[in-house]
Amino acid sequence: MRKTFQRQVILEELRATRDHPRAAELYARVRQRIPTVSFGTVYRNLRMLRDQGLIQELTLGDEASRWDGNHHLHYHFTCQACGQVQDLKVEPDFCWEAEVEQLTGLAITHHRAEFYGQCPDCLN
Ligand SMILES: [Zn+2]
Ligand SMILES: [Zn+2]
Repeated sequence: MRKTFQRQVILEELRATRDHPRAAELYARVRQRIPTVSFGTVYRNLRMLRDQGLIQELTLGDEASRWDGNHHLHYHFTCQACGQVQDLKVEPDFCWEAEVEQLTGLAITHHRAEFYGQCPDCLN
């Protein structure tokens, strides 16, 4: 019962934010609602929610994973100056998958695309 509650709070906190927090950042937010929760519990539940397909783990480069409450395919932009990760308001290109299949004969199940550059704040 208590375990289900913890998992629910973790999912709620992750779905309430658009900033793709690292586990440590999410842990700080969850602890405001459940002071007794441990980092290990938060991390274990993140992996469980990921395995259930309810959230996404973003592995961008070699830094610590970021977590995304939106499990639908969408693209991300990472600012290489300040490190913020934001969702791109660009429709995923599923035609791409058919094109790659035709060109290569491979059976594509899904794809990922990450964009990098500088955000407006860092450009100014
Ligand atoms: Zn930036
Ligand atoms: Zn996202």
